[in-house]
Amino acid sequence: MKDCIFCKILRKEIPSEFIYEDEHCFAINDINPKAKKHILVIPKEHIESLNEIKDFEIVKKLFEAISKINIKENISHFKTLINTGAKAGQEVMHLHIHVLSD
Ligand SMILES: [Zn+2]
Repeated sequence: MKDCIFCKILRKEIPSEFIYEDEHCFAINDINPKAKKHILVIPKEHIESLNEIKDFEIVKKLFEAISKINIKENISHFKTLINTGAKAGQEVMHLHIHVLSD
């Protein structure tokens, strides 16, 4: 989507360091970290939120990515969080999973 910040990052229109990338998703560090490590895992397809998902295969792919990222980043204990909807604190309307670890 044209004006979506995560789509812009994916298209390299906004510089950002990818800490992980595969066919389905990519991961970046949150610019306002709420923990020592705060990673965002993002599907490459623009899906607004969990409410818009029709094929939940992507959710499996995202969690597979988290597992790989955690090995790579040496993360053994962590929380995952998915805010769905602005009223729940979703700031970017492109599905993403927060991975937080202290
Ligand atoms: Zn997007």
